[in-house]
Amino acid sequence: MGRRAADWPLAAAGLVSPPPHATHSIGAATEAPIRMDSLTSADAVPATCDVVIIGGGIVGLATALRLIERGVRSIAVVEAERRLAAHQTGHNSGVIHSGLYYKPGSLKARLCVEGREALYAFCAEHGVRHERCGKVVVAIDDAEVERMGELERRGIANGLLGLRRLAPAELRAREPHVTCVAALLVPDTGIVDYTHVCEAYARLIRGAGGVIATAVPVRAARRNGGDIVVETAQGRITCRTLVNCAGLSDRVARACGVEPGVRIVPFRGEYAELVPERQHLVKHLVYPVPDSRFPFLGVHFTRMAGGGIECGPNAVLALARHGYTRSIVSPADIADWLAFPGFWRMAWRYWRMGVGEMRRAGSRRAFVAALRRLVPELRDDDVRPAEAGVRAQAVDRDGALVDDFRIERAPGMVHVLNAPSPAATASLAIGREIASLALETLGAG
Ligand SMILES: Cc1cc2nc3c(=O)[nH]c(=O)nc-3n(C[C@H](O)[C@H](O)[C@H](O)COP(=O)(O)OP(=O)(O)OC[C@H]3O[C@@H](n4cnc5c(N)ncnc54)[C@H](O)[C@@H]3O)c2cc1C
Repeated sequence: MGRRAADWPLAAAGLVSPPPHATHSIGAATEAPIRMDSLTSADAVPATCDVVIIGGGIVGLATALRLIERGVRSIAVVEAERRLAAHQTGHNSGVIHSGLYYKPGSLKARLCVEGREALYAFCAEHGVRHERCGKVVVAIDDAEVERMGELERRGIANGLLGLRRLAPAELRAREPHVTCVAALLVPDTGIVDYTHVCEAYARLIRGAGGVIATAVPVRAARRNGGDIVVETAQGRITCRTLVNCAGLSDRVARACGVEPGVRIVPFRGEYAELVPERQHLVKHLVYPVPDSRFPFLGVHFTRMAGGGIECGPNAVLALARHGYTRSIVSPADIADWLAFPGFWRMAWRYWRMGVGEMRRAGSRRAFVAALRRLVPELRDDDVRPAEAGVRAQAVDRDGALVDDFRIERAPGMVHVLNAPSPAATASLAIGREIASLALETLGAG
């Protein structure tokens, strides 16, 4: 399972077709029917339970698992789509991040490092194919070498072990087609298919008696005395605690009577892949030194757990919350953002970066030129379109992109309002954090 192809340069060339549905809002499933397996077989919705979790992505499933470990047995994960991991989790790059980039002391830094090791241990124990293959961050001029030093200090502050500078000759031994002035080896980075991780989480949840109900969009929730009444497309569930892990979770929070204070703005990551004959150009994961203001930007190469070398992304504003291709436009979603003052402030702050990303998204030549900074031998026809993913990024009222994970409590509820990358890597650690908050809420009920 992978991402869906973006318009550049593929759909324009007629090589891919857009997904079957254009928009997604509360109450509407957008996935086409697919084969039944452990990601799709749906349990019936219970009338009552202790905890309802909205969202069968990796964060919701990991939270369920952690709650079960803490003794909660009466638990239902409710997913709008017909299968689990249908959105961000099933369309991501499959990187087990090391924790290099994040601000020391942030939730991201702590939970990524903790979650990464928990994930490696989980995959080893449950037979999920993965590889701790390491990655290199490559500086191509002196200014980047200086920024690399800052990155290295961050990594050390975050507790990363084994970071090591590579001279150009050492890099060549590892990545013969990549050039640099200096490189940083990050040995703890790895690769995995996160849908396989979700399958394993789901098996354990069901094995412990937890319910996972797919094709059940949650429409609203309200307090009723000490309980929460959750309205779904398949009926009502009365529970003691509600956990919102809906990815695009701001609307769900509002439908639960909670003003989140942020809007989720979707950014489409448009990717390409190396054609098979040229996949030898990259052995592992090759990243540029990031701009510290936008560490998630910057085109890079990633070896995928299922084979192939992905490159990209271009990050462009999606015109619908599930805007996997350019042709998917939702006037209602756009109107929602335009009515939010933070959206305009964000546009004002970041327009220059946005124009750069759009220029690259519109031109294969510009895209490959950016990749060629890392692999000079790359030619325009060495890449072909691959699938896109849509990131749920929270923006606050001041127009700032919310950098850290954000989890808020409300009476009887826990809302995960920002869980961008590296939330898949960190899922078991975030899940533990959310489970603790949910247990406090249960105890208080
Ligand atoms: C292109 C891309 C590349 C990425 N690469 C990486 C990477 O390499 N490594 C990494 O660690 N992270 C990566 N990330 C980030 C990571 O994928 C996400 O942080 C993570 O998947 C978030 O999981 P989630 O469960 O919060 O969200 P999702 O996976 O989006 O799950 C939320 C679920 O909630 C459901 N839902 C929504 N509304 C409702 C409703 N009303 N009722 C019921 N269900 C509902 C949705 O259908 C969805 O299945 C990447 C993300 C993207 C988009």
